[in-house]
Amino acid sequence: MHPYEWEPPSASIARQAGVPEDQVVRFDTNTFPWPGARLEAMPPEPLNEYPDTSYAALTEAIAQYTDVPTDRITVGAGADEILDLIAKAYIDTSARVVLSHPTYPMFRILTEMAGGSIDEVRAINLHLDRRGFLERARGARLSWLCNPNNPTGELLPLEFVQEVSLASDGVVVVDEAYFETSGVTALPLIEALPNLVVLRTLSKAFGLAGVRVGYALAGSAISDALRRVRPPGSISVVSAALGAQALFDLDGMRQRVEQIKAERARLRRGLEALDLEVRDSAANFLLVQTGRSAAPALLKKGLVVRTFPATSLLAEYIRVTVRRPDENDRLVAALQAEPRS
Ligand code: PMP
Repeated sequence: MHPYEWEPPSASIARQAGVPEDQVVRFDTNTFPWPGARLEAMPPEPLNEYPDTSYAALTEAIAQYTDVPTDRITVGAGADEILDLIAKAYIDTSARVVLSHPTYPMFRILTEMAGGSIDEVRAINLHLDRRGFLERARGARLSWLCNPNNPTGELLPLEFVQEVSLASDGVVVVDEAYFETSGVTALPLIEALPNLVVLRTLSKAFGLAGVRVGYALAGSAISDALRRVRPPGSISVVSAALGAQALFDLDGMRQRVEQIKAERARLRRGLEALDLEVRDSAANFLLVQTGRSAAPALLKKGLVVRTFPATSLLAEYIRVTVRRPDENDRLVAALQAEPRS
């Protein structure tokens, strides 16, 4: 099994780089720079009692936001827990499971943990090989898609998601962690396609990565299966209340998304002015070809970016989260100061 490489905490990065902790900027976590809810605005919760195991208030808030009936919604402690529930419900040692490379690393890890065999479709010029994926998804137990894809930022058309779901008798997962930034969702397809499951999170545009709330949207068969393997209380009462609070402030969320999209265009211009190749991205991050020496040099200045193993198609790239304007300016200035390798 390949373990997930957890991001090191800012305190240890600060120590390593010899910079104060408040100078460390996380360009590696794909979070938004502003929180979408406040503890002070939370209704009082009885902390001595267990959460409502049905998470009725949170589920109702998600139903209002997505316009999906509550029985088609499964909540979890972040999208990662939902991915885990999907793997638990559908993958065993007899399962062939399709994923693309590169994509979100948890797909592989959870498949391996559940004993499934991985059928990897390598990207062509960093674009998902649609023909290859479609072919391999046909007889697969489960296929993982990420739209837009982390880490490339590529956005697949809904027609492709539909084609894969129609062609496959297995489950097709579409991880839409970055949906609020891309604006494209496979949600309208779940009624007609009982093997399709859409995954979302409050960790990105809703600004609640520390709170841990995610959810799945699917037809009744998949929703029932996920509910059967869901633990009763993995979301705390505090997290459920903060999640619902964030879901009621849609204007705030949309404003933050617009700011990030404007900033993404500005950051991209700044990077391209340094003659760096930047990929198109429908998410709140950019994939940039810098060579392998950039990341360690940036780290010395407290700027943490996502790097990839030497064996990856992305060995020469870094992935950077779009952050606040002043922070993005620091990134561009630091890259400008670095000789290229
Ligand atoms: N899916 C994708 C594609 C992600 O990028 C992430 C977060 N990096 C997750 C799922 C996990 O999100 P959460 O914080 O909701 O567990």
